[in-house]
Amino acid sequence: MASYNISIIKGDGIGPEIIDEAIKVLNAVSKKFDINFNFTEYLMGGCAIDECGNPLPQETIDGVLNSDACLFGAIGGAKWDSLPRELRPESGLLRFRKEMGVFANLRPAMVYDELVDASSLKPSVIKGVDIMVVRELIGGIYFGEPKGKDDFKGWNTMVYTVPEIERIAHVAFKLAQKRSKKVCSIDKANVLDVSQLWRDTVTRISAQYPDVTLSHMYVDNCAMQLIANPRQFDVVLTGNIFGDILSDEASMLSGSIGLLPSASTGLNTAVYEPIHGSAPDIAGLGIANPIATISSASMMLRYSLGEEKAAEAIDNAIKKAMKDGYRTGDLAAYDCVEKVNCARMGDIIASNI
Ligand code: NAD
Repeated sequence: MASYNISIIKGDGIGPEIIDEAIKVLNAVSKKFDINFNFTEYLMGGCAIDECGNPLPQETIDGVLNSDACLFGAIGGAKWDSLPRELRPESGLLRFRKEMGVFANLRPAMVYDELVDASSLKPSVIKGVDIMVVRELIGGIYFGEPKGKDDFKGWNTMVYTVPEIERIAHVAFKLAQKRSKKVCSIDKANVLDVSQLWRDTVTRISAQYPDVTLSHMYVDNCAMQLIANPRQFDVVLTGNIFGDILSDEASMLSGSIGLLPSASTGLNTAVYEPIHGSAPDIAGLGIANPIATISSASMMLRYSLGEEKAAEAIDNAIKKAMKDGYRTGDLAAYDCVEKVNCARMGDIIASNI
């Protein structure tokens, strides 16, 4: 029997609610496919500040690094917003990603056929969209030096090195080989020197993948094209800040932020998490949509554990729940047969396994 050590970070807000449902579904997978999961919980974010005064305890770093993969809920909330920036939950998250060496953030944006009406775009534009945004996660302007602010000005620096660009480009090309063999690299090479280096490097690496077609697009045009004709995209390769913005835009194509998973993979381990935050406005009400987190568990099985059949079973179980008309509140206006809460959605998906 295959056995995996999975580190679990529930975090704040709706984090614990949605992670519990993902664990429920993984337990169903465990029975069906004879896989053993050892789950170990670690603290991070606001709950870690409350417990030990540090948003990212060393024990969490060590525990995650020693696990096969990490399933992560969400962190943050107004309670901790008045702390100095370096002590806030979000600083812990940035430091966590850096410590884990997770340089590649994979964010699929796909549209379930049953939910084409949930998108703010016309069904004719949106049907069949299946995009994978590959975002560089631990470089660029969020980490570049110098940075700072005084009473008169504030400054950050966008820096990329050739090795940083090369390694994320390889991730994108390898993924494209398993999909429809197209990579669109996003930059602002008409204005930024760092983007020109990005473009030159990606073009050079593309020679190693002759079966993949590479195109380049400026980030402002990409923001328009994602709305005008999203089906033109397959793998979208971007740096950190452009990817942050574009992947949120792409996520809205699907109709709800509560649907979309992500994977952050890299040097030391991989972290799987929904793309949304801790949703403090609905925390504790039991109404959050757990599908993004359950879908993140599917990505974990696929990309870290090599359990493709189990991953497919989760994807199909989610699709069946959608097809059968079960909807959490965020999607209750679209072809809803029964409005369900977070725990019931988890039960339905687990029983579909
Ligand atoms: P958010 O993603 O938490 O919420 C935005 C909106 O989407 C809210 O109305 C929320 O109710 C809704 N929503 C989010 N997830 C949902 C779900 N699963 N089901 C139904 N509705 C859902 O973003 P925000 O409000 O800007 O941020 C709240 C907190 O989360 C902040 O402290 C922020 O820093 C933090 N945050 C954390 C992460 C992370 O942990 N990776 C990511 C983004 C934001």
